[in-house]
Amino acid sequence: MVDRMGFLQAEIDSLKKRGIYAPFRVLHSPQMAESIIDGKKVINLCSNNYLGLTNHPKIKEAEHKAIDKWGAGAGAVRPIIGTMQIHIELEERLAKFKGTESSLVFIAGIAANRGTIQALIPEPEDAAISDELNHASIIDGVRLTKAKRFIYKHNDMNSLEDVLKQAKGSRRIMIITDGVFSMDGDIAPLPQIAELADKYGAFTMVDDAHASGVLGKGGRGTVSHFNLEGRWDIQMGTLSKGMGVLGGYIAGTKNLTDFLRYNARPFLFSTAHPPATAAGCIAAIDILESPEGEALTKKLWDNTHYFKGKLKELGFDLGKSVTPITPLIIGGEERTAKFSKKLFEEGVMGTPIFYPTVARGTERIRFIVTAMHTKENLDFAIEKIEKVAREFKVI
Ligand SMILES: *Cc1c(COP(=O)(O)O)cnc(C)c1O
Repeated sequence: MVDRMGFLQAEIDSLKKRGIYAPFRVLHSPQMAESIIDGKKVINLCSNNYLGLTNHPKIKEAEHKAIDKWGAGAGAVRPIIGTMQIHIELEERLAKFKGTESSLVFIAGIAANRGTIQALIPEPEDAAISDELNHASIIDGVRLTKAKRFIYKHNDMNSLEDVLKQAKGSRRIMIITDGVFSMDGDIAPLPQIAELADKYGAFTMVDDAHASGVLGKGGRGTVSHFNLEGRWDIQMGTLSKGMGVLGGYIAGTKNLTDFLRYNARPFLFSTAHPPATAAGCIAAIDILESPEGEALTKKLWDNTHYFKGKLKELGFDLGKSVTPITPLIIGGEERTAKFSKKLFEEGVMGTPIFYPTVARGTERIRFIVTAMHTKENLDFAIEKIEKVAREFKVI
């Protein structure tokens, strides 16, 4: 057959030349503190499984039961007849958990961001105001609208105010920020953003993918962390990371979720979660609302302070991180890829991160501490990180 897509070979060759082409690492075990990856037992410091819920017996049991009761799939999109009682129950529980009037669940966080942003500011008279380090799914959402785009410097309130001035007079002005920034582990200054929103007649959305189950009272997110309840318009959260299962949601007023269930395209045109997924998410909320959840979040933060404290003592630059997301800046694509490979051989897995996910020159290994790690796990990892870093002259 004629190769009509010869350009693909050039694309793959260029990845190879950059030294970042490799098969995916594969789990041969559940996602755990010590996982079997590519047949090797390693300390797993790269999942988003902050609380260890992906493998929690109560969640697994809830999912088994839901399969028996409701079947394997939902069989339709939500607005047709894919909405089961268990989907409604999940939305009611989420709203209660977040302390909002209402919530709406999407199949994934990426769908929640794309759908919500596109629906709320569709017209050229609207304005999208976005932090330069926002997640790809926010960038996609903004690209899907016809709204004018304004990007402000990362967490820089002077820059935000500048662009708000430029956007003045727009029909709707939407400020969108990550709550916890996924590659740097710093937190957006929501109180100051809310003040500027008031001053310039904008409304606000936060993406709590990395804050759900992690930050705020009982893992309720950044709005709770800053005690901003009632002063923030749209909270997007995920059920995929700290909550251990899969999904994205919007929490806010009843008007907001009513509007979205008629207008958010990934909600309208994509099949509902399997009922087991909804049941697993409800079980995750049960855990977060219980003393066990409190103990898990406490362990997560104790581990975070321990791990980061030791790395700092060794002289590592962890950037602006104040959360379990721990970036170790290496610099250089090939160097970072080699660093991560060597570390894996030593028995520790961290994620190498390259352009375009982060700026060139700031290629890094990202570690994510979880509540499952024991002190022995962390000590082992720190020792190996130090060893490889000295070899690579990172410290
Ligand atoms: C992971 C992530 C998402 C996407 O969530 P999924 O449920 O995995 O689709 C959105 N925003 C941020 C900041 C994320 O880190």
